[in-house]
Amino acid sequence: MADRVKVREQEPKVRAKNFEEVCYGYNEEEAVLEATRCLHCKNPQCVKGCPVGLHIPEFIAEVKNKNFEKAIEYIHLDSSLPAICGRVCPQETQCESKCILGIKGEPVSIGKLERFTADYAREHGFTDKVEIKKNGKRVAVVGSGPAGLSCATDLAKLGYEVVIFEALHTAGGVLTYGIPEFRLPKEKVVNAEVENVKKLGVKIETDVIIGKTITIEDLLTVEKFDAVFIGSGAGLPSFMHIPGENSNGVFSANEFLTRANLMKGFRDDYDTPLKVGKKVIVVGGGNVAMDAARTALRLGAETHIVYRRSEQELPARVEEVHHAKEEGVIFDLLTNPVEMIADENDNIKAVKLIKMELGEPDKSGRRRPVEIKGSEYEMECDMVIIALGTTPNPMIPKNTKGLDTDQKGCISHDEETTATSLKGVFVGGDAAIGAATVILAMGAGKKAAVGIDNCLKNK
Ligand SMILES: Cc1cc2nc3c(=O)[nH]c(=O)nc-3n(C[C@H](O)[C@H](O)[C@H](O)COP(=O)(O)OP(=O)(O)OC[C@H]3O[C@@H](n4cnc5c(N)ncnc54)[C@H](O)[C@@H]3O)c2cc1C
Repeated sequence: MADRVKVREQEPKVRAKNFEEVCYGYNEEEAVLEATRCLHCKNPQCVKGCPVGLHIPEFIAEVKNKNFEKAIEYIHLDSSLPAICGRVCPQETQCESKCILGIKGEPVSIGKLERFTADYAREHGFTDKVEIKKNGKRVAVVGSGPAGLSCATDLAKLGYEVVIFEALHTAGGVLTYGIPEFRLPKEKVVNAEVENVKKLGVKIETDVIIGKTITIEDLLTVEKFDAVFIGSGAGLPSFMHIPGENSNGVFSANEFLTRANLMKGFRDDYDTPLKVGKKVIVVGGGNVAMDAARTALRLGAETHIVYRRSEQELPARVEEVHHAKEEGVIFDLLTNPVEMIADENDNIKAVKLIKMELGEPDKSGRRRPVEIKGSEYEMECDMVIIALGTTPNPMIPKNTKGLDTDQKGCISHDEETTATSLKGVFVGGDAAIGAATVILAMGAGKKAAVGIDNCLKNK
């Protein structure tokens, strides 16, 4: 079997200084060549590895035959955000991890083929062709992230009038405010796919905070929506609760990335403040930490990732760690902050760190990091970014009588239907399970659309 077609990328030294997309994706010739590697298995395991059950062998067969319009039609059967998923899905642990070619060699590059097909479709004006018969019922969707967008898409296709209410001034959720431009271009990719959802008749009202501007109860009783889907994500950052953490210059990754992405702080023609100074310390080892570090690096700072376990336990995707290293991010592993030190004006000037070693495995199965007594040292810095995970914002459950949550603050729901404890109210994505992935949020949004449709049909 031929080797996987390599994908072209910007040179690390060049891209470390710009916000252009790192990966160029396949061109037509490369995509067709890669598509010929697919074995078209009778019982395709790749589909089982995809949370939205994409018609993978079918779309790849169309790419192989250069029927790109037909290829995107197959993709649109299950996904409204393929150019996004093709770029940010962890395919290595999903569809591609099941590809039979992966047993002896490299699996088919399903993600890059999805990306190519979606980009080709956008550039050639192939849209989702679907006949919609209105059914006279209305559904409100809270949040315009991947969960809300995919729930809205499927409901619109089923004939529902759908209105998405979004707290921020731009739609897209984490796709817009979190994932950096160099991994996921906003104008070319995210906005274009949001526009495709709107073309199905979905309305998006921005600057509306559900639970504050208007309650869920009002949506059902005053605004007369037949059902509500909550896809409000997990936007509440976790902190370390160590001395000095409130100093100026200590940011949550969410705030830092929002300033960079949503408020375009990296561009000279925007006046969003985003001064990284000479040295930035990012605390955490997940994908969000990698995004924050790579953004800080591009803004001109020497950037350190401080993570309390070893490289083996880094929760970020291998590809993200590899890219960060190539670009020059410095990894201080087995190290943990114990104090943030500020100057007389309360501006951060250093972090006191302690060295760690790995002990016995903890509940997560990973070896527990243990402090090495007497190993403290200080590292000077101009900014600290905390990337230690997020949980769902409690605002909606707090302001919605009868909406139950679990111990982690996630909105309780029925696994099958996605129904919450409140009649007519459904939930999916990070708000339901905590911080996860784009494709899981999309899968949950689709499942909720079925749950809502079944509920309203039987009403
Ligand atoms: C920096 C970063 C990088 C990531 N990288 C990846 C990646 O590479 N691959 C991957 O698969 N996953 C990644 N993830 C995770 C992924 O983005 C999320 O799991 C996914 O976006 C969750 O989708 P969602 O629709 O549930 O929520 P979100 O995307 O968070 O969208 C929720 C939306 O609801 C809005 N909202 C919240 N409260 C209200 C309210 N009260 N009223 C109205 N609107 C409200 C929010 O403003 C937001 O727009 C990343 C996450 C982050 C933070």
